Amino acid sequence: MKPVLLVTGASRGIGAATARLAASRGYAVCINYRRSTPQAEALAADITASGGEAMLHQADVGNEVEVLAMFRAIDAKLGRITALVNNAGILETQMRVEDMDADRLARTLQANVIGSFLCAREAVRRMSTKHGGTGGAIVNVSSMAARLGSPNEYVDYAASKGAIDSFTIGLAREVAAEGIRVNAVRPGLIYTDIHGAGGEPGRVDRLKDSLPLQRGGQPEEVAAAILWLLSDEASYSTGTFIDVSGGR
Ligand code: NAP
Repeated sequence: MKPVLLVTGASRGIGAATARLAASRGYAVCINYRRSTPQAEALAADITASGGEAMLHQADVGNEVEVLAMFRAIDAKLGRITALVNNAGILETQMRVEDMDADRLARTLQANVIGSFLCAREAVRRMSTKHGGTGGAIVNVSSMAARLGSPNEYVDYAASKGAIDSFTIGLAREVAAEGIRVNAVRPGLIYTDIHGAGGEPGRVDRLKDSLPLQRGGQPEEVAAAILWLLSDEASYSTGTFIDVSGGR
């Protein structure tokens, strides 16, 4: 039986690189996305053409009904989930805290925090030995923003990633004796579309010279760390973090 992996937010960026690498390493992958149907379909077609196994599922991870339907679809098409990457995430236009309204804060926390909780909950219900599962691994995609705070850009986003760090530690300790490892990666400045959502598509190039490694990172470099944390090579690591951030 192939290991079964859900990657949330896998139509683009870090999620897409993770789904691609996982499929090449023998995972049956569910590619979740919210809006980018053509990109998600192209990724699934690529994986299949390379001999891998993938299914597509459109769902907003912040919507409980849609998350429940997604996990039922995975049960039916791929079998019991053994690995989850909570990657879906958003940020909004750069601004100071004094200008943020409640709707914006709710959108950010709903997608980044509640979405990760809901997907992890459904995964634990299937992976935990307490529920008849055979264990599994969860990797949360946090951010260096959790430690840096993103002043003058998006403190709300940074705070949502701080919540993901606490979530990673707490859930890891809660389910460690039930065969489930929970870890996180903290990417730094990675070349993806997310910076455009903040209103600055060229943000990585603006800041890259300030990094010890003096360059931005590629989604594939984050995917490699995620795949290691999912793998048996990381069998004694739980509740911990890999910073994939060029030394920042
Ligand atoms: P991206 O290129 O903007 O891709 C985001 C992905 O998340 C897309 O596939 C998007 O789907 C999906 N998504 C967004 N909201 C969703 C929702 N509510 N439900 C389901 N899917 C949703 O971003 P990225 O840079 O690869 O970011 C991936 C993760 O890495 C995020 O958690 C982000 O915070 C984190 N991160 C990124 C960086 C960086 O520098 N790029 C640094 C630190 C952390 P659609 O395409 O369908 O909208």
